Amino acid sequence: MRGVSVSKPKVFSTHVLFDDPRRRLAEHFDVDYWTGEERPPRPEVLKRVAGKDALVCLLTERVDQELLDAAGPALRIVANVAVGYDNIDVSACTERSIAVTNTPGVLDETTADFTWTLLLAIARRLVEGDRLARSGEWLQWNFDLLCGTDVWGKTLGIIGLGQIGRAVARRAAGFRMRVIYYSTTRAPAEVEKELHAEYMEQDRVLEQADFVSLHVPLRADTRGLIGPAELAKMKRTAFLINTARGPVVQEAALVDALDQGRIAGAALDVFEREPLISDGLRRDNVVLAPHLGSASLETRTRMAIIAVENVIAFFNGKRPPAILNPEVLRRK
Ligand code: NAP
Repeated sequence: MRGVSVSKPKVFSTHVLFDDPRRRLAEHFDVDYWTGEERPPRPEVLKRVAGKDALVCLLTERVDQELLDAAGPALRIVANVAVGYDNIDVSACTERSIAVTNTPGVLDETTADFTWTLLLAIARRLVEGDRLARSGEWLQWNFDLLCGTDVWGKTLGIIGLGQIGRAVARRAAGFRMRVIYYSTTRAPAEVEKELHAEYMEQDRVLEQADFVSLHVPLRADTRGLIGPAELAKMKRTAFLINTARGPVVQEAALVDALDQGRIAGAALDVFEREPLISDGLRRDNVVLAPHLGSASLETRTRMAIIAVENVIAFFNGKRPPAILNPEVLRRK
């Protein structure tokens, strides 16, 4: 069709995403992708976001006053490709009437699967076993070789019974575990019944659980939630599993607790100063993963699609399905 060409809104995406979401973005927007293998350096993000109408970013990008200043007045929406959004200063965006969206509802099961991957790996010493098996130094089987800890029949303690915490709790039934939890808001009775989960104060969860699994968001009130006092309440035989966010745990305190044998071990997907990992965590009774919680191809694709749908809805004048600050829509 001939006529006046209307320019499409400009998007900076800090990742190439995947084919399907990329195709959808291309239909509606003029997109500038960061295509590097590594995450983009901060100066590059600040340069490339300038003059863009939308930013599609990952949890590695800090969206703060500096970035918003660099973007300038054109920026209307920041679409995070993650459910956690502690990397985004949502109030600063709201003050500037910039919409912020995340990707809830598609990664709960995948992240719960990975929580169990870590839990089972630390309990049954899988990583130590793998290391031995591939080292060429495993010369004979023995009765007491790498004996771990049973998972079945034990007590699973969940801190933060939201979407992921519930998906983790649901899986415990297959292991015939007792499930106890603490969450700021107690779950409705029917949810507790479905999950066979008992509510109790956080200290009681820490005292009674054989596996303490963290599923709180990172916010001012949860930063450093698990420190020396909390670790001291855990059983000496208990394990800490963290697939939430690194700064929820005081890493130095965790290293101290491990050094002194105050807990049996830990399995961690996230770290206080990611991707830096404290040397004190590199030990046999800690399983380490490089933030893989939602990392299945299916789920990462779905997350990218949701982020893209949020941006498309916004520019079509509709409410983005996962908007975190809907008040900005009323100001338009
Ligand atoms: P969610 O549905 O919002 O659940 C979080 C739960 O934690 C809510 O029930 C919340 O209660 C509760 N909570 C908040 N502060 C608490 C506190 N101080 N003590 C106890 N409970 C508290 O979030 P989600 O989707 O389950 O995700 C949880 C977090 O996991 C995300 O924020 C993200 O950081 C992390 N995550 C990590 C990965 C990974 O790759 N490792 C993947 C996905 C998500 P209220 O509702 O009452 O505040």
